[in-house]
Amino acid sequence: MNVTIKNDISLEEKIDFFNNHRDKFHVVADFDGTLTQYFDHNGKFRPSIISLLYNEWILDDDYSKQAQALFDHYVKIEHDTTLSLEVRQQAMEDRRTEHKELLMKKWLNYHHLEQITKMDRILMRSGTDVLLKKLYEQDIPLIIFSASGVGVDSIGLLLKHRWLDFPNISIVSNKLYRDEYGVMIGYSKPVIHSLNKTESVIRDNDEYKTLQTQIKDRSHAIVIWDGLHDAEMVDKKPWRTILSIWLCNDKLEERIDKYSDAFDVVITHDEGFKEVIDKIWL
Ligand SMILES: [Mg+2]
Repeated sequence: MNVTIKNDISLEEKIDFFNNHRDKFHVVADFDGTLTQYFDHNGKFRPSIISLLYNEWILDDDYSKQAQALFDHYVKIEHDTTLSLEVRQQAMEDRRTEHKELLMKKWLNYHHLEQITKMDRILMRSGTDVLLKKLYEQDIPLIIFSASGVGVDSIGLLLKHRWLDFPNISIVSNKLYRDEYGVMIGYSKPVIHSLNKTESVIRDNDEYKTLQTQIKDRSHAIVIWDGLHDAEMVDKKPWRTILSIWLCNDKLEERIDKYSDAFDVVITHDEGFKEVIDKIWL
């Protein structure tokens, strides 16, 4: 059984609420490992968008080596829970900033991101297309909230490539600024990384004024994510109804018992969204 849906009154009440108040909520979803598969068909970790840039040698050899070294250095800090959250957050900001400076030095161009899209190495999770279409048809805003270093452009390209770039979707992620030739010349700040994905990123940023207006009267939310810190993507308040869908992709044994009670739906083993869509509301 790869989908566990809480069987209790509180969840039934939430489902009723969302069914009866379609204009009162929005959906927030992480991208990598959430709307996409965590493993590929051979059981190997699926690549993240940015890892394709260096693992597939899209830029030069030196870039691939330096980007891999950055990953190797910072990934240990990211997951070292003996360190304080502040220390880890600063390290993640440094990681993203150093990587972006490196991309600029290596003349990253928009066409490199198009190249990644066309490789078809990113597998969408089964049912993501149905989920996105249903949200669009019902005019429910969807925020794709991603810490990907090249998120806005590459997620936009990937959705377009699959005919899923619906107008109800807002991508909240790292944006690259480019010149008229497509060459990266800067990036949006503050950088979004795996440990600062909280609602304040949207609330306190003029860049998201349109989105702020769209969700102003839709404060209730359905939240879908895999990385543990992403549970913070929506602030929990007593007056908000929040339905949580957690994709437990790795460290299943140590995590599933500890966290599954805290969330309404838990999906494992890269299962698709069909059962959830049927059960919950759409
Ligand atoms: Mg993720």
